[in-house]
Amino acid sequence: MIEVYKFGGASSKDAEGIRNIGHILSLRPEVQLLIVVSAIGKTTNALEELVNAYVDRKENTQDILDAIKLYHENIIHDLFEDVSHPIYDDVANAFVEIEWILEEEPYDTYDYLYDQIVSVGELVSSKIVSHYLNSSGFSNKWADARSYIQTDNTYRRGKVDWEKTSDRIREQLLPVLADQYIVTQGFIGGTSENFSTTLGREGSDYSAAIFATGLGAQAVTIWKDVPGVLNADPKLFANTKKYDELSYREAIEMTYYGATVIHPKTIKPLQNHQIPLYVKPFTSPEESGTCITNTDVKVTEPAVIIKNDQILISLTTKDLSFITEEHISTIYKSFADVAIKMNVVQVSATSLSGCIDSDQRTFSSLIKRLEQGFGVKYNEGLQLITMRHYDRELLNEFTKGRTIMLEQSSRVTAQVVLK
Ligand code: ASP
Ligand code: MG
Repeated sequence: MIEVYKFGGASSKDAEGIRNIGHILSLRPEVQLLIVVSAIGKTTNALEELVNAYVDRKENTQDILDAIKLYHENIIHDLFEDVSHPIYDDVANAFVEIEWILEEEPYDTYDYLYDQIVSVGELVSSKIVSHYLNSSGFSNKWADARSYIQTDNTYRRGKVDWEKTSDRIREQLLPVLADQYIVTQGFIGGTSENFSTTLGREGSDYSAAIFATGLGAQAVTIWKDVPGVLNADPKLFANTKKYDELSYREAIEMTYYGATVIHPKTIKPLQNHQIPLYVKPFTSPEESGTCITNTDVKVTEPAVIIKNDQILISLTTKDLSFITEEHISTIYKSFADVAIKMNVVQVSATSLSGCIDSDQRTFSSLIKRLEQGFGVKYNEGLQLITMRHYDRELLNEFTKGRTIMLEQSSRVTAQVVLK
């Protein structure tokens, strides 16, 4: 039986978490496993901060990098008493790659530099996990995901070449699993010229699905710091409920609207290959978690998805003409060109309003494009609440006393943008 396990940054944020990965493996010794790991803790955020500082030519780049290195060194010291263990060199060498980049002026594009630097987070975490597991009796091979997950050179959102990728995984990794575990990285891929790419923030889940389809795995399990897929974010709400079972379609809808428990791209490849996805609690691995399959089980508990830091853009025709299909296609093209997704859209006679996540680097270029054809206004700092299988009363509780900037509902899904 072949399966894929994915451990996110929260699971490996300290030495105790990494030891727990070994414990989880020990529970099912009969399974052949490929293990996908994310960067440790909040390392990706810190590396992102480093890229921004470097590109903006700030003075503090070395300080940011030093803090990242120290965080990793502390974990390694806790896991490996022997300071001559090869992990020490492996990790130092990975960080030297970043130092070499920082020595140069930031001439390349932001997205390219981002991928070369940020990908190191996963390279380092996977080295630590791989060495740790080898030293505790879980014999494994460390695999460089950049040699298997082949993407185009759309940096920061690499597009996967499925054929090449599946062939390599099947031909080169499948045979290894017969007598060893494989430890590899989430989130990263490589181009045909051997540059690193990333698959979009939180993309490690997607990597797990890619490896699973290539291997023809029987299941994927995402180990999380929550009991499973919940009907709301437990960091924001006290009385959350867990879904025991969800259909692929329901899961894909929830992630589309911003439920961050699973990366939105994860579900489709698994559905296409009928591979079940389990979301399970890292600290209580014996629990059943949530199982996502082709089930036709009906969801009754409303799912509440909150997105903060939203910008509502309103576009009007400059000459009071009606918004036509041509206008709409021009508007959508402008959003597509800068890869910004509209989380909710509403069209009236002479205007179109769309709500987006705030990303200062792309926002100004979007506005420039839109201003060429339309009158543009926007409001920042808003909140988007999406409720699947909504309940009017519950929705009213959320909107009470607040200004509704936009509201939209279908039979299943209600969305409100609030100030
Ligand atoms: N480390 C990456 C991120 O934080 C990918 C992931 O965790 O899935 O976005
Ligand atoms: Mg994640």
